[in-house]
Amino acid sequence: MTPLRDVVILGGGYAGLGCALRLSALAPDLHITLVDAQDVLCERIRLHQVVVGHVPPRLPYAELVEGTGVAFVQARVLAIDAQARRVGTSVGELAYDRLVVALGSDIVPELPGAAHYADTVGSAGAAARLRDRIAVLAAGSRVVVVGGGLTGIELAAELADARGDLRVHLVDRGALGAGMLHPSATAKLRRSLARLGVTVHERFDATAVEPTRLVGATTSLDLDVCVWTTGFAASSVAARSGLPVGRAGRLAVDATLRSIAHPEIYGIGDAAEPVVDVGAPALMSCRLGLPAGSHAAASLVAEVAGSTPRPWQVRDVLRCISLGRDDGLVQFHRADGRPRAWSLSGAPAAWLKERICRATIWVLRRRADAARRRPRRLSAGPAVGVPSVAAVRTWEQ
Ligand SMILES: Cc1cc2nc3c(=O)[nH]c(=O)nc-3n(C[C@H](O)[C@H](O)[C@H](O)COP(=O)(O)OP(=O)(O)OC[C@H]3O[C@@H](n4cnc5c(N)ncnc54)[C@H](O)[C@@H]3O)c2cc1C
Repeated sequence: MTPLRDVVILGGGYAGLGCALRLSALAPDLHITLVDAQDVLCERIRLHQVVVGHVPPRLPYAELVEGTGVAFVQARVLAIDAQARRVGTSVGELAYDRLVVALGSDIVPELPGAAHYADTVGSAGAAARLRDRIAVLAAGSRVVVVGGGLTGIELAAELADARGDLRVHLVDRGALGAGMLHPSATAKLRRSLARLGVTVHERFDATAVEPTRLVGATTSLDLDVCVWTTGFAASSVAARSGLPVGRAGRLAVDATLRSIAHPEIYGIGDAAEPVVDVGAPALMSCRLGLPAGSHAAASLVAEVAGSTPRPWQVRDVLRCISLGRDDGLVQFHRADGRPRAWSLSGAPAAWLKERICRATIWVLRRRADAARRRPRRLSAGPAVGVPSVAAVRTWEQ
């Protein structure tokens, strides 16, 4: 392995930004460059709130990394050349000694018609478009939310809570809560959704989306707006760059979170998944993205010190679901993800969920403060090659 000086981190979500700030605090003499297509952090875990008009605080990257030694580059990542150790971006090439892929995921509907006729909440742009559609819906309009996972449940509840005049339907291919909630927690969830007026359709096998109808194998549902909440897929950059990927296009990494083909490339958050046992499923989630970022930072520090990075262990004990603003559900589970009989509901669960959402930003700010306190020898500056139009054109082919 070559000496380690330039670390480039692709994606400034919970995983990537968290990794950059932690790394800067632990190893102030590294050159750390963070790349994101946007100039502000997207609090994805609040996007269902954005749909009903919540205006998130602006969190510009320039401000978040100021004084931390992390250089921020706003650019779209196009491809990775692992042999040459360069990244092609919309503003030029970046050379790296170590790369961290943290480009996240998006909802990619695959059913016929879904890409055309269904909205999603996977990104800030998609949530804003859906917000504008919902805002002009007349009372009595039907919104069909497809997907009984955490995102679908939270969105359906949020819509029903904020817009009691709409008829909100939640469609699940299987049984509500199956595999992720204990039967007692599922019963609480059913009561909450019923109180909010959400109609739940279980074992509804959707086969197509039409402009005014969700078509199922045996029946169909009329709708004014369809929202697709399943089918999270990782950023396609790793796969397009020829790096080995696994399920949902996630970069295939080993237990130390390094690419199984290129140990100088780390993969964290939604963008990557260990292909070996790390104690529990590495679900796409903010609650695992933040610790994965921290672990990758510690591994890079170990590399600088000449030692071997340690394996990552998933530690995941609860699922926290908001059900509108005043209700929620917290499901405690075993290390392997199997739900325990123990759950929290109502206002205490809503309170805890809100505290957890706030804690994500608090953790990032704490990491930034720790980085600011460290004296550093190297001046911060991105390892960007001179942006060359020819280079950019080549990458885009
Ligand atoms: C509505 C909703 C509610 C959720 N609620 C929860 C919850 O309660 N708890 C929980 O644990 N998880 C929740 N999640 C999941 C959670 O948001 C994700 O798992 C988490 O955001 C993943 O973090 P990440 O850093 O890996 O990726 P992301 O947060 O997706 O960040 C990826 C970053 O990469 C950037 N990027 C992507 N492609 C490019 C490119 N080509 N070039 C440059 N930049 C690029 C993006 O702009 C983004 O800033 C929710 C998700 C949604 C959509």
